[in-house]
Amino acid sequence: MTTTIIDGLYYANKIINEIKTKVDKLKIKPKLVVILVGNDNASQIYVNNKQKRCLEVGIMSEVLHFDENINQTELLDIIKQLNEDTEVNAILVQMPLPKHINPDKIVEAISPVKDVDGFHPYNVGKLALNMTPYSIACTPSGILKLLNAYNIKINGKHVVIIGRSNIVGRPLMSLLLNNNATVTVCHSKTENLKEITNTADILISAVGKSNFINSAFVKHNVCIIDVGINRDKNNKITGDVDFNDIFDKCSFITPVPKGVGPMTIAMLLQNTLNLYDIQNKK
Ligand code: NAP
Repeated sequence: MTTTIIDGLYYANKIINEIKTKVDKLKIKPKLVVILVGNDNASQIYVNNKQKRCLEVGIMSEVLHFDENINQTELLDIIKQLNEDTEVNAILVQMPLPKHINPDKIVEAISPVKDVDGFHPYNVGKLALNMTPYSIACTPSGILKLLNAYNIKINGKHVVIIGRSNIVGRPLMSLLLNNNATVTVCHSKTENLKEITNTADILISAVGKSNFINSAFVKHNVCIIDVGINRDKNNKITGDVDFNDIFDKCSFITPVPKGVGPMTIAMLLQNTLNLYDIQNKK
């Protein structure tokens, strides 16, 4: 059996180039506004990276950076203004927010048709009901694109997802169920995790712990999607999966980095363009 390493970077660049070609043809360019609160280092790096990628494809991107003492009412007012601003197509609020701001209230305040992350309850609900949301969370839709790009069969297959976060596990569960997978979602309270993962045709790990998954967790021929982005004790970026240990047992595996990560950013650009298209068709 040979193991195929899924090249997320290649497919992300392919999608980004396609987006650029489409955006080049538009007279009025799509616009994404990113709200950043406070001075968290990692958040600033993520936001800079998103802005850089937007500019590369010709999407206008504005970062509104607020002091960490901004209060919830002020932030809600700003979102209201952005919702009403016809020049703004997509809004992203970088998480985490300071403790005095309720993130659920902020997500709910964003107009569903400008919700580039696909986190608004309207869009999450539509996805769960297998209806058509305005947007779908970026990491799950990036994973689906990769599975399709490699012709990995989803229909009828047992997909085990480890992790039930609102940004990865839950929307991924809906998306794969809508694509006719038999989906099991595991989490920190799951009993007999290894027994369940050993029945997976496709195992998707979104736990956030280096080397959490090794060859004892999987059957032969499994497809492994590693969502984790962690740092090991040498400060090296790792996924959740012990890549070398598991490699010979897999049919497909995503590396970290250059696996799921680049697809997430490609889907953010794709969502921005989709929202622009929806708003301009009305
Ligand atoms: P999260 O909100 O911290 O969720 C982690 C999930 O793992 C939770 O559902 C938790 O269960 C579960 N878990 C923790 N320990 C477990 C255990 N021992 N056994 C089984 N399940 C366990 O994390 P997240 O935001 O989804 O992110 C997960 C990882 O993906 C992180 O490394 C993050 O950096 C990465 N990530 C990558 C991308 C990308 O683009 N590649 C995007 C987003 C996130 P409970 O619910 O019971 O607590």
